[in-house]
Amino acid sequence: MGAVLLLNASYEPLSIIPQRRAMSLIMRGRVDAATDDVVTIHGASTALHIPRVVRLRRYINVPRRGARWSRQAVLQRDDFRCIYCGIEAGAKQRGQILGRRDFTVDHLIPRSKGGKNTWGNTACACPVCNNRKGGRTPHEAGMTLLWEPKTPRVDYLVASGDIPASWKIYLEVK
Ligand SMILES: [Zn+2]
Repeated sequence: MGAVLLLNASYEPLSIIPQRRAMSLIMRGRVDAATDDVVTIHGASTALHIPRVVRLRRYINVPRRGARWSRQAVLQRDDFRCIYCGIEAGAKQRGQILGRRDFTVDHLIPRSKGGKNTWGNTACACPVCNNRKGGRTPHEAGMTLLWEPKTPRVDYLVASGDIPASWKIYLEVK
């Protein structure tokens, strides 16, 4: 909850920064609020409203770096939703409530067939679909993808916990 999404002047996400840094950028007139969603911090006599998304007034040129791949980051990118059947964490499957921990990272092309740990080759899958697919490709297993796995724009690892709703429109995959 303590983090702020920093956007370039072009609205491209740059990084996730601590609130203190966001506040300092606001005070120095370097950024503007890019959302109505604010976090209120109560001081001794005043309350500060810090936007959860801020945007630089001047464009800065940064070389694009790819987001780091990790299992956790894939699950976050897919919002703990199965790419095959669409079931989400919190829903019931075979009489059990699915928790986030029940989801696994599926390799579309299985590792046993040379599939790599890349954003495009991995997606979130529920236990039932994961089991059904086994060591096959989706095509071999007769399963279809509900969306195409893509490389996210920013590093999901930096965002610990839940991603605020106000960030999501800016974090859409390219
Ligand atoms: Zn599924």
